[in-house]
Amino acid sequence: MSIKNIITVPDEMLKKISEPIENIGVDEKKLINDLLETMYASKGIGLAAVQVGILKRILVIDVSSKDEKKNPLSFINPVIRSVSDEMSVYEEGCLSIPDTFIEIERPSLCEVEYINIEGKKKILKCDGLLSTCLQHEINHLDGKLIIDNLSKLKRDFIIKKISKIKKNPERIVV
Ligand code: ZN
Repeated sequence: MSIKNIITVPDEMLKKISEPIENIGVDEKKLINDLLETMYASKGIGLAAVQVGILKRILVIDVSSKDEKKNPLSFINPVIRSVSDEMSVYEEGCLSIPDTFIEIERPSLCEVEYINIEGKKKILKCDGLLSTCLQHEINHLDGKLIIDNLSKLKRDFIIKKISKIKKNPERIVV
């Protein structure tokens, strides 16, 4: 396993649509393990392959709390089949948009069809944090980010701020 570099805005790759997986082989299994390791190392609760620069419809999630046992989940070719009318709001962050939190309203419940790591078709009904996290990550596979619904002014401001942080060399005091 290895920790991958997470790409951040304004990397154009984040706007691209990821390709469906046809066969689950050694490469896909390794990618899932790498995504999990990268997600845990970055203290995130979800990560899509595109965030490490790989345009494949694969994502990983772990919404277990700190004092619970780890519960790594992986989803291949996930598709949202249905959502509730009821909505919920979370303040969402994104590993590809550092230090930015935005209130996002999404359907509270969703039903997702996907392929698991053994290649079996599965359906998962979920609510709460898992539902929100899955919807956020599936958006990544379609090139959508949480800043997309902001005004252009706000979006440009966030991207500029992040680009500046990236450009500045590490500051040291000696
Ligand atoms: Zn994200």
